[in-house]
Amino acid sequence: MSDHEGIDLSAAGPPPLSRRKVIIHIPDEQRHDHEGQSESSRLKFSILSSGSGGNALYIEADGKRILIDAGLSEKKLSQRMAHIDRSFSGLDAVFATHEHSDHIRGMGPLLRKHKLQLFTTEGTYKRAGSTMGTLPGFNPIRADQPVEFGELVVEPYATPHDAEESVAFVIHYRGLRLGLATDLGQVTTEVKNKLQNLDVLLIESNHDVDMLDAGPYPWVTKRRIKSDVGHLSNEACGELLSSVKHSGLRLVVLMHMSETNNHPELARITARQALGQDTPEMIIAEQNHPTPLMAL
Ligand SMILES: [Zn+2]
Ligand SMILES: [Zn+2]
Repeated sequence: MSDHEGIDLSAAGPPPLSRRKVIIHIPDEQRHDHEGQSESSRLKFSILSSGSGGNALYIEADGKRILIDAGLSEKKLSQRMAHIDRSFSGLDAVFATHEHSDHIRGMGPLLRKHKLQLFTTEGTYKRAGSTMGTLPGFNPIRADQPVEFGELVVEPYATPHDAEESVAFVIHYRGLRLGLATDLGQVTTEVKNKLQNLDVLLIESNHDVDMLDAGPYPWVTKRRIKSDVGHLSNEACGELLSSVKHSGLRLVVLMHMSETNNHPELARITARQALGQDTPEMIIAEQNHPTPLMAL
């Protein structure tokens, strides 16, 4: 990425004046935006990997740096961090949403190699402990009890998923809100309430129901994915989007998309229809490539 102006992700012309753009971060550039905010004080994030093959989300603001999930090997995760000009050295915290292998596959080696602290629920720790092995440090978290790193606040909330005490997160920073909503079997009132007034929503659009039904997965797996504790379909993603959309929502990232049971265009069309007129920028997180480091 060599464009020194940053890149507007919108394909539909300039956003309304009231809405600040999400930009792709250019490393080593001391840029100041039109509101005079310094580059280092912005909330930045990159989805390093998303999908059943492994998940990881990197977030930083004002010198604080965290990772949510480590579902690829330590080596692959480090390569993806290098791709966005970052490393795991000195990270303030690594969070785990739940014990499924696509979220913790590289957790133990990552934490040990870089001497990092794990933050997760007692339930996840209990289930994932044998996979992760001995860790440098475990800090128990609970749904609805925010964890603060300076002004960067990580608020866990409970998710309906077939895991023990699984959570997702809303990230708060100086009035900005970024919501993560993946590995959800259904859109509960609590989930809707947590995801109101977001600036950015990273939302699961896992499968197209017809493709899943017609696809190659065993019946028991299909039933699990479609259950109340499985994954959000494109339609369920649309339902959640329509209940949390508002004029301040600047970016929607479609996440955890199945390569077997979904097609990016189907997911995109369903999400756009749910969002209606005032459509925010939208991108699809990928399994095999990190997104650029984006800044709010
Ligand atoms: Zn998952
Ligand atoms: Zn899961």
